[in-house]
Amino acid sequence: MTDCLIVGASFAGLVAARELRGHDVLIVDRSPIGAHQTSACALPTRLIEWLGAAEAVLHEDTRMHLRIGSSAWNLNLPEAYCVIDYEACCRALAAQCDARFEQIRVVGRDGDSAVGAGGERLAATHLIDASGWRRVLDAGGPTRGSHDGLVIGTEDHVPAGAAPTTNGFAFYVAKSLLKAGYGWSFPAGSHVRAGVGSFTREPLQPAMAGLRQREQIGAGTEHHGGAIACTPREPVQGPVVFVGDAAGQALPVTLEGIRPAAYFGAAAGRLLAASLDGRLTATDAHARYAALHASHRPGYDRLNQAQRWIRLLPEFAIRRMATKRIGPGARSGPPPEVELGRHRYLQVLRAEELDELP
Ligand SMILES: Cc1cc2nc3c(=O)[nH]c(=O)nc-3n(C[C@H](O)[C@H](O)[C@H](O)COP(=O)(O)OP(=O)(O)OC[C@H]3O[C@@H](n4cnc5c(N)ncnc54)[C@H](O)[C@@H]3O)c2cc1C
Repeated sequence: MTDCLIVGASFAGLVAARELRGHDVLIVDRSPIGAHQTSACALPTRLIEWLGAAEAVLHEDTRMHLRIGSSAWNLNLPEAYCVIDYEACCRALAAQCDARFEQIRVVGRDGDSAVGAGGERLAATHLIDASGWRRVLDAGGPTRGSHDGLVIGTEDHVPAGAAPTTNGFAFYVAKSLLKAGYGWSFPAGSHVRAGVGSFTREPLQPAMAGLRQREQIGAGTEHHGGAIACTPREPVQGPVVFVGDAAGQALPVTLEGIRPAAYFGAAAGRLLAASLDGRLTATDAHARYAALHASHRPGYDRLNQAQRWIRLLPEFAIRRMATKRIGPGARSGPPPEVELGRHRYLQVLRAEELDELP
């Protein structure tokens, strides 16, 4: 029998597969590896280096522009973030794995077997669900788009010449655009990634049109989007370990999901490899993974609470909260430059600092 079956060949699944090198691993995805980008793909530069995919970097920056209503700030981050080419990153990761790959759409699970759309039964000693928000191996069946813990986002790739230059990564909070959420515009080399994300699943196309008009952003040549799962869910169910969005591990408020997907993907892969090597029992490996997931729960709860406040508060109250933390913004003229300190947010969920066996 296959040692480990991984459903989903994106960030979480490929990182887990890399940790399971030397074992018989089958990774399946409904699409070819790297073919289906859903993300703006901004992540810490340190992480892309740890992923061994530095060649995927399209733009790197420590600057961030924040606009809340009519107030603006230019922030300097304490570490660099980058925007990457999704396909190049997935391919670089896949090249570091020795797993077999098959293109199969999984529709559910029967005991210790994943079931493919063509009736395939894929049995394995361990199962990892890295299928993103759809969580296709859940005992209750795949998650529907109407599920409570989901946030939605959509994005255009706009040729660089058709969008204004921003001070690094730009974020826009404006209730006239979105009641609960924000817009963004990230430089990505030849193009700009401009998008909107909503915490309440309000219609995104009017918000996207509003962002384009307000920021004078031209038409996109590529378009993508999807849901983001940022409410933690049961991390282990029978033989299945859930990682990344499948476990609701994307970060609320910022909607940063790549960093947690890599962190929990590495932890799951490492623990299951230890079980296959006889260093841990399967029960212990599952218990340690569940404990790691639970240890981060308070942080997710705090961020989810903040996300609820952003949803409920009027724009001036959000601006006042920001002013309290980072000082007054500019209503006109050049925004103040603010050095951001090493907030705890940036220090957690770092795959590159994960213990040998979490
Ligand atoms: C518009 C948008 C912008 C975002 N921007 C950022 C950002 O800038 N930075 C950041 O950190 N995060 C961002 N996120 C969040 C981030 O994309 C996710 O949190 C992250 O991709 C989760 O990684 P994952 O590996 O868990 O799942 P995914 O990347 O969603 O991968 C799931 C994989 O499973 C496969 N799959 C799904 N269903 C099946 C099935 N039935 N059978 C077989 N395979 C299946 C999919 O094809 C895919 O390859 C953004 C999300 C959106 C929607």
